[in-house]
This record gives sequence, structure tokens and C-alpha cells, in this order.
Amino acid sequence: MRRKLAAGNWKMNGLKDSLAELDAIAAAGAKSELLICPPATLVAAAAAKGTGLAIGGQDCHAKTSGAHTGDISAAMLKDAGATHVILGHSERRSDHHETDDAVRAKCKAAWEAGLTAVVCIGETLDEREAGATLDVIGEQLAGSVPDGATGHRLVVAYEPVWAIGTGKVPTLDQIAEVHDFIRARLEKRFGEGAGLSVRILYGGSVKPGNAAEIFAVSNVDGALVGGASLKAADFVPIIAALD
Ligand code: PEP
Repeated sequence: MRRKLAAGNWKMNGLKDSLAELDAIAAAGAKSELLICPPATLVAAAAAKGTGLAIGGQDCHAKTSGAHTGDISAAMLKDAGATHVILGHSERRSDHHETDDAVRAKCKAAWEAGLTAVVCIGETLDEREAGATLDVIGEQLAGSVPDGATGHRLVVAYEPVWAIGTGKVPTLDQIAEVHDFIRARLEKRFGEGAGLSVRILYGGSVKPGNAAEIFAVSNVDGALVGGASLKAADFVPIIAALD
């Protein structure tokens, strides 16, 4: 059985004071696995708190070290206490022109450093309206994930670009269609064992009010949550809906 996972992506939000939210989230005593990905400046301090929440980065470089000003390697995240890293988030793909090839290289680096990669894929509104959603998802999944995926090393997050931070959410049928498609592709490529063990998260405007119905959808193993993960008061009810 796949263990449910609720992951919070704090994006470029949070100062030291924000780490108090981790205590409040941990105090909720969830059965599901919990992951918080704060900004890079807070990863070490978040991990050092020892709350029992997994801590992750929001990106890493494909190289281990070198002349890459401003970048952070997977080994550095691991050294800071991270266990996971989000890769290929649509904001990285758009703001930093990250391609599937780049995401795949980063994913390899993450695995080499011993991190679990949370690889994000998702269509734009134009692509959905053109009927190209499954083509886009298939291409991104094939291109962004290296060979050798297992349930331990990989989490896939389906995040329709048009649903991120907008308050718009696909219908439950639309979510089911994409998650079932991703599951089938994972099984085909990595075999039944690995393909069935990779968690597939839904991300995009998950809130306390819509979490339960989304979590009831087939092949939804949890959520990647942006805005509603910043405050325990919002995130804890989402976790409760998952448990
Ligand atoms: C995200 O950034 O991954 C995300 C899903 O954001 P939000 O929950 O704010 O839509």
C-alpha cells in the first residue's frame, strides 16, 4: 500500500519566525507522511528542529559542486538535513526556462545524493483547451523522470499550471483521468512493482474545503500544497482530510 503524503511548498515565503508553523503541524499527529519544503535559507533550521516532518528543497542543480553562483546542489540539501526535493515545478519551468531534460538531470543528481525527488508535471490552460493534456503529461513524465524510478526515490505531482495559486481546480473526473494515466505510464515503464509504489500527488489550489473530495479520487495519494501550507491553521485540516 502506498502511504499518503501531504507536501507543503512554501515557495519564496518564510523567515525564521515561520518555523513555528512546523511545531503546530507536527502537533496535529498525522498518520500520513508530511513533507515541508521551505525556502533554501530555512532548510537546515527546519531540519534541525527535529519535529518529525520531512524537510525538502524546492530545486537543486544537476551538478554536485562548481562555479554555479546562486545554485544549490542536491548534496548540499542532503547535508542541510533535507530528505526530498521538488523538481520541475511549473514556476521553475516558466521563470527559469527549465526543460524536461534539465529536470531529468536534476532528478538523477537528487537520487545520487540520496534524496527523494518530487517531480512536477502539468498542462497549461491552452494545452487543456486544445485537448492536449494527456499528450503533454505523457511527454513531461517521460522526459523529466530518469530510468530507475522506485516508490522510494520518486513522487510525481500532477499540477495543472492553470490551477496553481488561482483558486481554480479541475473537476474530479479530470483529476482521475490524469492520475490514472500517470499510474498506467509508470507501470508500463518501470514495471508493476515500482509503478504501483510511486505516489502521485495532486497540486493546485488544494484548500481545507476541497481536500477531502480530491483525496477520494482514484490514484490520488496526497497533495502538493502551496498557499495553504504556509499556515498550520490551513494545512492541518488538509492533512486531516488525508488521514
Ligand atoms: C504549488 O505551488 O505547488 C501549488 C500547488 O500552489 P497552490 O496550492 O497555492 O495552488
